[in-house]
Amino acid sequence: MRLILLGAPGAGKGTQAEILAKELNIPVISTGEIIRNALREQTPLGIKAKKYIDDGLLVPDKVVIEIMQERLNEDDCSNGFILDGFPRTVPQADALEEMNIAIDKVLAIEVPEQRIINRISGRRQCSKCGATYHLEYKPSKVLDVCDLCGGGLIIRTDDAPETVKNRLDVYREQTEPLKEYYNGKGLLSIAYGQEEIEDTTKEVFKALGVGA
Ligand code: AMP
Repeated sequence: MRLILLGAPGAGKGTQAEILAKELNIPVISTGEIIRNALREQTPLGIKAKKYIDDGLLVPDKVVIEIMQERLNEDDCSNGFILDGFPRTVPQADALEEMNIAIDKVLAIEVPEQRIINRISGRRQCSKCGATYHLEYKPSKVLDVCDLCGGGLIIRTDDAPETVKNRLDVYREQTEPLKEYYNGKGLLSIAYGQEEIEDTTKEVFKALGVGA
């Protein structure tokens, strides 16, 4: 299955992508994670991307498209993949189409904006390995310590309230039109995000026809 997940920041794309990846045995490709890793490692991409991420803006299409052209050609993508955070603009969607990789489904996860803002305020991420947590919905066993590697948990700089507002504006203006784009191609399904992770997973599986 070659799947695209759409949804506002904080809609639960990353969490559901991880669960789906285990169920379907295919990798998650998250452009946000690729960029954040580059930032941690201070690579040229990370240095270039920093100002955009910090302001809650999108990294230029050209940069992201080049990264994805390489990444989607790697061996682990040959049996399918889940795209979390790409494409995020119509030019990126056009570029993906030009890569001649047929997408099977596009799933939009819908969550009301007020709930998104509440959710983002509880998000935490491991400063070492990037694992994600949530104070309420997916807490670590020990407060502020990563279950997987023992690293310290931090708040993503772009999860600060002023930046989140920009990210939501950017989502509405640049990414939301992709729902129409893919609906026009007959690929779009919708899942409604619920309070609890497992309940959202049920909606996601149902919308995709996955699982028991
Ligand atoms: P995310 O983790 O998906 O919320 O992404 C975090 C940040 O990475 C975004 O706010 C953008 O600055 C950048 N980013 C991630 N994916 C893309 C993309 N497809 N196009 C442009 N910028 C992106």
